Amino acid sequence: MTTGKFIKTVFFIEMLKGMALTFKTFLFTPPVTRRYPKKVRVYSQPGFRGLHALAKNEEGKMKCVGCGLCGAYCPSQCIYIYTTEGEDHSKVVDRYEIETTRCIYCGFCVEACPFGAITLSEHYEYSTYTRDSLYMTKEKLLDNWDKYFAGEKGLRYFRDFWRPKSEDFNGYENQAMFNKVKVKGKE
Ligand code: SF4
Ligand code: SF4
Repeated sequence: MTTGKFIKTVFFIEMLKGMALTFKTFLFTPPVTRRYPKKVRVYSQPGFRGLHALAKNEEGKMKCVGCGLCGAYCPSQCIYIYTTEGEDHSKVVDRYEIETTRCIYCGFCVEACPFGAITLSEHYEYSTYTRDSLYMTKEKLLDNWDKYFAGEKGLRYFRDFWRPKSEDFNGYENQAMFNKVKVKGKE
């Protein structure tokens, strides 16, 4: 053992250095914990996967056409879609439901939807005492659109969303979710 190492071992130099660092951090570094819910964290990361919402088009109508792709992709199998045949053999989405207690917030439903009709908002504060309130119906999901995507908030989501912006999509403007849903007979 060298003299330097011997001195360090005998006088606990490394330990004292560690304690000095801890003491310095304790005194001069502001805490990173927040006094939630008094202080609410503002998510700066776009595409945080929070509560679901069903998108509406510019006329305020639900974009979902009931194709069922989101449900087929969902690894938790927690999306339930009930459709009937409407006028002109068009599909009518009677019920669109998500059991959020089983959802793993993977975002596959969003990725799978060819119409950008299902989205994950940045809203995360929805703890509750009843399971029922975590069962999202079509009406609740459409309400969520109004609550969390209205105005600037929605623009930010559509501009900065976490979906891949690779060459395959040829830029975010060309992703399906930015295109209007074309209804047969209407332009
Ligand atoms: S986020 Fe994932 S688990 Fe949740 S509903 Fe969508 S596909 Fe299913
Ligand atoms: S949300 Fe999209 S993928 Fe799911 S049923 Fe509606 S249109 Fe189809």
